Amino acid sequence: KSYTHLFDTAVYVGSVTVKTGLFINGRWVNPIEGESIDVVDPASEDVITTIGCGGAEDVNIAVEASRKAFRTSWGLKVPGSGRGRILSKLADLIEEHSEELAALEALDVGKPFLSSKHFELKSVVQAVRYYAGWADKAHGKTIETNEKKLAYTRHEPWGVVGAIIPWNAPLMMAVLKIAPALATGNTVILKPSEVAPLSVLFLADLLNDAGIPPGVVNIVNGYGHTVGSAIASHPKIDKITFTGSSLTGCKILKASAASNLKAVTLELGGKSPTIIFNDATLEQAVQWAALGVFSNMGQICSAGSRIYVQDGIYDQFLKEFTIYVEGLTSGMGQPFEAATRHGPQVSKAQFERIMSYISFGNSEGAKIHFGGERFGEKGYFIRPTIFVDVKPSMKIMREEIFGPVCCVVKFRTEEEVLDWANDTTYGLAANVLTENAARAIRMAHALEAGVIYVNHTIAGDINVPFGGYKQSGLGREMGEEALATYTQVKAVHLNI
Ligand code: NAD
Repeated sequence: KSYTHLFDTAVYVGSVTVKTGLFINGRWVNPIEGESIDVVDPASEDVITTIGCGGAEDVNIAVEASRKAFRTSWGLKVPGSGRGRILSKLADLIEEHSEELAALEALDVGKPFLSSKHFELKSVVQAVRYYAGWADKAHGKTIETNEKKLAYTRHEPWGVVGAIIPWNAPLMMAVLKIAPALATGNTVILKPSEVAPLSVLFLADLLNDAGIPPGVVNIVNGYGHTVGSAIASHPKIDKITFTGSSLTGCKILKASAASNLKAVTLELGGKSPTIIFNDATLEQAVQWAALGVFSNMGQICSAGSRIYVQDGIYDQFLKEFTIYVEGLTSGMGQPFEAATRHGPQVSKAQFERIMSYISFGNSEGAKIHFGGERFGEKGYFIRPTIFVDVKPSMKIMREEIFGPVCCVVKFRTEEEVLDWANDTTYGLAANVLTENAARAIRMAHALEAGVIYVNHTIAGDINVPFGGYKQSGLGREMGEEALATYTQVKAVHLNI
């Protein structure tokens, strides 16, 4: 690794150069106010580089560019087949540069480099290709009216989409918004997370290289309370797509409604249950439960952080699960080392937040069965942590921790566990492990969550819609369902 500063960050693989200004109207510009944000490597706590930090005035400029591009060089101009071709080219470029992109996320998020390159980047490419394929397939209906006249519908783009994303999977979050928005003809103003912006900034040059016209995608770095809220409340932005915490989601919904009643899609937090019945295959249950909560260092929205295990296999599960998690701890280390399976938490703030949940759990009377402490002297590493003797009312059972912390709880009956699992304000995902197909389906239908995994956990697929019930979200991302959130329906009545 070697770090240099402002506007040319040279990182890891050879000579990855990331431009660190704002990407507006196809060009790199400095923020008007000239402020900056330090980007920190969570494994070493060193400042990697400094990026330009925008403000409300930069958002205004991006909105003007984006509105013009919508009319003159994208949605109202380029046919679906043309947009699809450009998105396909973008997918190819991301694939070609997956090593650099994975390296950047290893550097500023702390993701283990090899798994990021081999798994996450593949999904990113798949997502862009998937929406490239949809670009020329939008069509409405023809309808015969009661008067025996003809009406038809059109799915038209909103116009300018404001996209605000978190830091836990920056590139994936960015393409899950950019690709369907562009496929349906919208233009985009994207705000990456101030915590981990590098891979998204690298993506900007690939957008240009793919032939996406200037102004079609604009990237404005900055903080949530400045750039984020300027996007949410901008009267000339037509739609907001947001991924992040439920608290911020509520603020965005309010700001959007108060400004111009924007359409809003929200992908928010979770406190998902993993339910393991006596008849589950133990080895499989142990692995899926661990992956479900500790992947990406526990920084996953659908993390199965409440693990309910039926009384017949509880003791054996806890023993095997602990051995598995111990093994995971031996894979803790620097993100760029080949043997690393578990890196640091993303930032000092997250590290401190998670540690305070751990000590709160302890003080509320739950027992730390494994982990519960920092790993190493430097970097924001936390050992995967298992709590037992947990009560449903405890904070660690109710609030999203967004770190490598789970609670393991014993249950007796299907009815009991269903009540407990649904006793949450969240409803993103739920995992059921059982060999009884009838029970699996019964549970899948009764659980109050937008995504159910039977005999696995966290396995997203771009073909399948993803999103939350209750306070975990509004609308859906991924799959065909996402396309509908980027268009509005126009009905045309003909009297001819
Ligand atoms: P966050 O809500 O703090 O921030 C998310 C984004 O919103 C950032 O870009 C931030 O700058 C911006 N923001 C903050 N305040 C804002 C405001 N007032 N107005 C506009 N924008 C604002 O979340 P985070 O810490 O970056 O990410 C973690 C959260 O994201 C967790 O709750 C996690 O569950 C959630 N998440 C959900 C999904 C999903 O698909 N449901 C996926 C990944 C992460």
